[in-house]
Amino acid sequence: MIIWDFNVIVALGITLSLGVVIILWVIYTLSRGRTEPLSNREFFRQCGFCGYLFFDYFKRTPGHCPRCGSYQN
Ligand SMILES: [Zn+2]
Repeated sequence: MIIWDFNVIVALGITLSLGVVIILWVIYTLSRGRTEPLSNREFFRQCGFCGYLFFDYFKRTPGHCPRCGSYQN
């Protein structure tokens, strides 16, 4: 039989809250994995000068390479 003192209650609370966080993280990761490659493909750009691959979520014209600082059209 479990003796319900303060240490057992704290350990049980931490374990349950970590379990909930891990379950929510797994659900979020699995649902995100299906849609992210298609949704990010339109923001994908490559620098014409240094070849750096980056995401341009704002689609500015001209774009700005984050590595070499050159402008992209
Ligand atoms: Zn560049």
